[in-house]
Amino acid sequence: MKNVKLGISSCLLGEKVRYDGGHKLDLYIKETLGKYVDWVPVCPEVEYGLPVPREAMHLAGTAEGPRLVTIRTGVDHTDGMRSWAKQRLNELEKEALCGFIFRSRSPSSGMRGVKVYHPSGIPTHTGVGIFARAFMERFPLMPVEDDGRLQNPILRENFIERVFVFSRWQEFQVEGGKIKDLVAFHTDHKLLILSHSTSHYRMLGSLVANAKKYQPAKLHFEYLGNLMEGLKLLSTPKKNTNVLMHILGYFKKVISPEEKQEMLEVIENYHRGLVPLIVPITLLNHYVRKYHEQYLAKQHYLNPHPVELMLRNHV
Ligand code: SF4
Repeated sequence: MKNVKLGISSCLLGEKVRYDGGHKLDLYIKETLGKYVDWVPVCPEVEYGLPVPREAMHLAGTAEGPRLVTIRTGVDHTDGMRSWAKQRLNELEKEALCGFIFRSRSPSSGMRGVKVYHPSGIPTHTGVGIFARAFMERFPLMPVEDDGRLQNPILRENFIERVFVFSRWQEFQVEGGKIKDLVAFHTDHKLLILSHSTSHYRMLGSLVANAKKYQPAKLHFEYLGNLMEGLKLLSTPKKNTNVLMHILGYFKKVISPEEKQEMLEVIENYHRGLVPLIVPITLLNHYVRKYHEQYLAKQHYLNPHPVELMLRNHV
């Protein structure tokens, strides 16, 4: 797999850009995930022109339209930050990012749950950081996540899976985005989509079957929108078991009774939470190679991201 390009809040890579001169290095993100990623670091506050160290800021006002203000002296940086963000997002558009990892809880970079303060000094609700909001409005379909949520192995797998899908989508578009290539793209992602949502699986299948009825731009917009929406729904042991049994069906004419029994036991153990998903997936990949199952060999469900990231190794 080739590297994917991700935007990231600079402090998560260990850059000393925080208001107090420190960083928020995340070793998993930088060292482990970093082997497969070309980073595009962004520190909104420093790139906008604030020094290090600097007075701390927070969000104040309403959840929908909070202001970015310094806590002690009350200087309002909202308009300046928004206008800087507009320029920076134009540059980021040319980078062809496949996703962005935001620093959680930051009034500039936080993508959800950032405290918004009342004039009394008490946080009364939560909102979105000024730069993160502008980013998500500009790139609504791009996978985004924050470092706090990435600690959760289920959310981490889900995000990284979406990033690699988004990267393949970009390749499809660069190669011309023809209908025949959309059919191939969809075919190779079928089981992956099914592991998240049967309704999106049906909806996307119908969209592709009727592709000729749409203008290409509209078709791509509808397909990607539904695809990313469906993939955001978390896969579960029940959904995965359904897909694993579906895959096993492809081998019914070639597999021996002993192999079938072994596979059923492994799937059952996965379903009961006794072994991680990587166990049945590894065995199925073995059968795919052994029996030269061409359709399955191309299914991204069986190989969605680098196995070294060990994203399917949790129970
Ligand atoms: S959270 Fe964002 S604004 Fe704050 S130091 Fe990190 S990158 Fe810069």
